[in-house]
Amino acid sequence: MTGATAASGSRPDEHVPVTPGWTCGTCGEEWPCAAKRDLLLAEYRVDRASLSVYLGACLAAATADLAAAPVRPLRERFIGWLPRGPVTS
Ligand SMILES: [Zn+2]
Repeated sequence: MTGATAASGSRPDEHVPVTPGWTCGTCGEEWPCAAKRDLLLAEYRVDRASLSVYLGACLAAATADLAAAPVRPLRERFIGWLPRGPVTS
């Protein structure tokens, strides 16, 4: 059930996290959901380092919000999915 009102500056298809549960505001899955991962990879395609920093900040916030959750699965969920391909030329 999505009774979210359109907040200014936020579109309903942006798959933003809903805290403190860290579920997706669009599809309700655990954030980052599959759709959000695709969006992030596209958005940060040329700056993967910044994506890691961003997700690291999200992980830190989620770790604080979800204090009862084990840390390792959280870390896998937030940054474990990142492609580890060598970006070296
Ligand atoms: Zn989503």
